[in-house]
Amino acid sequence: MIIMLQPMIQNIIAKPKCNAFNCLQKPSPIGHCNRCSLDFCNTHRYIETHNCTNYNKDLEFKAHQAKIMSNKCVREKITKL
Ligand SMILES: [Zn+2]
Ligand SMILES: [Zn+2]
Repeated sequence: MIIMLQPMIQNIIAKPKCNAFNCLQKPSPIGHCNRCSLDFCNTHRYIETHNCTNYNKDLEFKAHQAKIMSNKCVREKITKL
């Protein structure tokens, strides 16, 4: 009986789950995100699907850069005309 019960107890104590919001799936062995240092299931292991904080920062930065670049292009076009 003791041998039978032990794995169950271990499951209750150490119950790793996906770190994505409201997700109860088991983390995937390859679901570790290097950007936010959290573990995710197969669905949420991509930075796009688990709303990675660092990824969002990257996006904001890229959007900001794109804005600057497009402004530059517009200004260059205007001065040429
Ligand atoms: Zn998940
Ligand atoms: Zn992440």
